[in-house]
Amino acid sequence: MIENATIETAAYEIMKKAAIDIPDDYLSGIKGMIDLETGDLSAFVLKAMVDNYEAATEDRRPMCADTGLPRYYVKVGNNARVDEGFVGVERSLRSATARATLDVPLRPNRVHPLWRTEHNNNVGLNAPEVEWSFEPDADWIDITTVHKGGLFGTDYRMLFPGDGVDGIKRFLLDTLIAFGKRGLACQPAIVGVGVGGSKDTCMQLGKQAACLRVVGDRNPDPKIAELELEFKELGNSIGMGAMGFVGSSMVVDCHIEAGFTHTGGMPVSVHTFCLSSRRATARVHADGRITYRTDPQWFTPYMRRESVAWQTEKADLSNTG
Ligand code: SF4
Repeated sequence: MIENATIETAAYEIMKKAAIDIPDDYLSGIKGMIDLETGDLSAFVLKAMVDNYEAATEDRRPMCADTGLPRYYVKVGNNARVDEGFVGVERSLRSATARATLDVPLRPNRVHPLWRTEHNNNVGLNAPEVEWSFEPDADWIDITTVHKGGLFGTDYRMLFPGDGVDGIKRFLLDTLIAFGKRGLACQPAIVGVGVGGSKDTCMQLGKQAACLRVVGDRNPDPKIAELELEFKELGNSIGMGAMGFVGSSMVVDCHIEAGFTHTGGMPVSVHTFCLSSRRATARVHADGRITYRTDPQWFTPYMRRESVAWQTEKADLSNTG
């Protein structure tokens, strides 16, 4: 049985870790871009960012003054039991957010959209968001926090089947150029592309692709994996680099997630996880231990299951088109 207090401790610690320590995969990605960067100013920004990450870790202070919008993704093992149930888990996540905002400190960004009132702790109406997923044959709970910055670094377009992959590329380029020119998110970013689903699923998949997959990770569908690499190259070829300066470092990596959609449409969303790609994960084990990591391991084979169980056992899905 997992105790609620353990959940609170884990959530508080990952709030701190996410705000302060840049994940290794993103850091390696940025370092790898420095040598390849063609623009002087863009290369200068990349080096300054690496210095900034190191200073944040050393001083135990947030890597960016803008906390973004802290949120949670929780993956629950099917056999996990919590002493105060899952309402207790949500209460713990809210209280850990408030405590971390005060202690780290995090900028209390969350306000009421109309009255601009706030509680000074990043907690409020529908905030922080908590998204749930499940995992068979497991008795742990994985809690991931993401502090997504780049308030405007997201866009959506309803395309049609006839637009094809070229239509997606056009939308991706339009979006990245607009974000870069208008300073809507600090690059280089991990770009997430959601394709398919309903409109809300499309947005959700794209955001999860940006925030919950590590640099270097590839989609298990080889054709989608190829597109990810192609989109990354495309994003880095528009002439804009770090922070929108002339250069070639716009995209650290690109991740695509797809969902079955209406036969008449092809919704697409684009999301950028900015220069402060803040994420941290805690696994709370059934015996009360907590282990920490930076790879959320969110998209498990169970998450991406394509069909109902009796069909996956009998049918060869690679032949279903
Ligand atoms: S986009 Fe990211 S790096 Fe830029 S100010 Fe916002 S949180 Fe900070």
